[in-house]
Amino acid sequence: MDGQMKDDLVEIGCEVRGHGGWQWVSLSDALRLYSSRMKRCQECHGQVRVDKPRPGMAAQLVHYERNSGCSLGDCFDGRRRLHQKPMR
Ligand SMILES: [Zn+2]
Repeated sequence: MDGQMKDDLVEIGCEVRGHGGWQWVSLSDALRLYSSRMKRCQECHGQVRVDKPRPGMAAQLVHYERNSGCSLGDCFDGRRRLHQKPMR
């Protein structure tokens, strides 16, 4: 352990439906402040939920319906596409 926990990753969040549109929030805010709001993926606009962090694992963005065209999903095929049922 060198004590250097460098994190170069772009922060992953999600979008919550609010007054007049969608608003980006971090996953931790989504869990703390917007747990009952409708959420969509910041990339493919498919509906998502946020799973609470567990020991050794960060909070997870989970697509209700998997999208192989989303790099934030678990089955990305390398070609980005909008979700087949995007949330508007
Ligand atoms: Zn997505």
